[in-house]
Amino acid sequence: MEGIELLVDLHKEGLRQGPGSETTTLKALELMRLPPGGPFRMAELGCGTGAASLALAAALDVQITAVDLFPEFLDVLVERARQRSVSDRITTQACSMDDLPFPAETFDMIWSEGAVYNIGFEQGVVYWHRFLRPGGFLAVSEIIWLAPNPPLEIQGHWDVEYPEMGTASAKMDILERHGYAPTGFFVLPQDCWTKEYYDPLQQRTPAFLKRHNHSAEAREIVEAEKKEIDLYQRYQDWFGYGFFVARKV
Ligand code: SAH
Repeated sequence: MEGIELLVDLHKEGLRQGPGSETTTLKALELMRLPPGGPFRMAELGCGTGAASLALAAALDVQITAVDLFPEFLDVLVERARQRSVSDRITTQACSMDDLPFPAETFDMIWSEGAVYNIGFEQGVVYWHRFLRPGGFLAVSEIIWLAPNPPLEIQGHWDVEYPEMGTASAKMDILERHGYAPTGFFVLPQDCWTKEYYDPLQQRTPAFLKRHNHSAEAREIVEAEKKEIDLYQRYQDWFGYGFFVARKV
């Protein structure tokens, strides 16, 4: 298996593929102060196995198009939607979040948790803007610096891994410069990383390694995850996920 297929294999059994929680998804929804009504039209971009779509479909009169690059994740999402009896509210689309097959002004809401970094925050919010109807909402979580002057080790790590990493105010500024009015912001609590994401991920790794006969490629992936978790444990006061909610103006 290629590295990317192995990554999908490690992550597809997870309820989520990045930091977050059902509680924080619903908190972001609250920050939109949606007018009463529905059904709302929403796209979730980089949905993985659908943590956010499933929570929102259960909470709201909404029609969701859940988008991810990997059909394997979408297959799991479809099965989970069936189990939660929300299949009639969710359709899936395998495509890239920077090449969407939708007409302009299709959606009342665009949602994306822990995924926009794949194309970069600025490119993502600029490109997605056209798919929102005027007055529509964006909810996007993005990794940010939580404090100035981080230690060299963690600064160096993110300079390489995600040079676009910035502070909350820098991300707000990007939103404001590109036709959005921010309506809310919060930082994901630490258990969104640990209890919700890293703990289950670590529990899955022994079976993953076994499934792939401890191949060099599989071990490399596990080592990279371990390094990421270690960095988070040591430097969680310096970086985290910000959840940004904004309205298209
Ligand atoms: N939103 C989910 C998954 C976050 S992980 C959650 O919070 O659990 C990032 C997701 O982005 C993965 O599912 C990955 O497959 C997807 N992804 C990566 N590059 C992408 C692209 N170019 N277009 C669409 N999805 C992409």
